Amino acid sequence: MNIVIIGNGTAGVTTALEIRKKNKQANIKIFDKSGNLPYSRCSLPYLVSGKIQDSIQTFDRNFYKQNNLKIINAEVKSINRQEKVVKTDKDNYEYDKLVLATGAKPFVPDIAGLKDYYTLHTIKHAQELMKASGKGVIIGAGMVGVELADSLRQKCDIVLLEAKEHVLSTILDKNFAKIVEKKIKNLRTSVNIKKIDQNKVYLKDEIIDCDFIVVACGVKANSKLAKESGLKVRKGIIVDKQMKTSDKDIYACGDCAQTNAAKLATNAIMQAEVVADNILGIDAKIKPSFNTCITKFDNFIIGSTGDLGSENTISAVFRGKARAEYYPKNSKVYVKLIAKEDYLVGAQLIGEEDVVGRINWLALAVQQKLKIEQLCDAETAYNPALSCVFDPVVVAANILKRKISR
Ligand SMILES: Cc1cc2nc3c(=O)[nH]c(=O)nc-3n(C[C@H](O)[C@H](O)[C@H](O)COP(=O)(O)OP(=O)(O)OC[C@H]3O[C@@H](n4cnc5c(N)ncnc54)[C@H](O)[C@@H]3O)c2cc1C
Repeated sequence: MNIVIIGNGTAGVTTALEIRKKNKQANIKIFDKSGNLPYSRCSLPYLVSGKIQDSIQTFDRNFYKQNNLKIINAEVKSINRQEKVVKTDKDNYEYDKLVLATGAKPFVPDIAGLKDYYTLHTIKHAQELMKASGKGVIIGAGMVGVELADSLRQKCDIVLLEAKEHVLSTILDKNFAKIVEKKIKNLRTSVNIKKIDQNKVYLKDEIIDCDFIVVACGVKANSKLAKESGLKVRKGIIVDKQMKTSDKDIYACGDCAQTNAAKLATNAIMQAEVVADNILGIDAKIKPSFNTCITKFDNFIIGSTGDLGSENTISAVFRGKARAEYYPKNSKVYVKLIAKEDYLVGAQLIGEEDVVGRINWLALAVQQKLKIEQLCDAETAYNPALSCVFDPVVVAANILKRKISR
């Protein structure tokens, strides 16, 4: 079987590897126009800050050789679906099954006068940003904008601008976002940028002088190739639950596909696994994503999973400590649990430690539709130097249980 994968990022390389694990014979070709071996985009903010100084490459050439994966450093320019061929400038390549894993590119809003700006999506962008100095304006306070503000504030004076009412609006609600906002110097929310004129950013009632501008307003799917070949495309490439496009022999996964999942590496991996199975004739369907994620600003770690809350949900907040009350060098933990009827549907967590562990088990609880009552019964580990007798999550669950029963 001839399998062609366009894109050598998280989604493309995972699809290839998952197919290879189960099928040693398939002829797998991976195309990539960047000329890079796969690397961790998630690490880019930490390259900018200098926290990571070594390579962020995730696989080397040996990996492709060992797994018998042919990598072709070329841009696929078109797809002929009738002949089942992809075309580069030089050659044509036949496929039985084609995978589009073409990723996304930074979304740049239409702002009058916005010309010279940085984005952060590639190693090259990170290297350019490492040279930035003076006063910078970051447009967009989503996860990338906030992480970048954290990285750049070490050496630059940063102003963070957000059009929405609060920062991190896809992972935190307004009240929890406020806890993070208190940490961010020079933040403006609900802004409407009127225009940019050279090094001046004009807001409604303020003009900000700066030396550089970074646009961090999210990404949009790379779906041009799919669209030009006649596949169904809206905001991204339309796929069904098997990650199949409108052509039965073409699949799409990762940032280029249109799904309900956030554009995260974790979601790209889950989608790629589904694609690999279906290509091999194993029926697999994508499961709902709860967009479990984690980010940081300063010494705060911020985790989120599931629903952020709505009119139909009920929530409880607990502000506790990471360790036994009396233990020195303690730190605060903020927990928000969200329930629909008596089920856990979402959680938000902010703290200086242990956020990742807690958000991961809360994500499992959401995924498994755990009842709040069951969360109250959770058996948790205790040592005064490391944790509390009553874990803050369990305390929050008890508060929520009482609210539900009222
Ligand atoms: C700064 C930053 C931080 C992030 N942090 C996190 C995080 O902490 N956690 C998390 O889960 N996610 C994070 N993400 C998101 C995550 O990186 C993406 O969701 C993930 O990389 C998507 O993988 P992908 O394979 O779909 O796309 P990509 O990794 O973008 O790969 C697509 C590849 O396709 C190639 N390509 C495109 N068109 C063609 C063509 N026509 N021919 C040949 N090749 C082509 C491109 O060159 C590219 O290499 C972050 C993203 C950014 C930008």
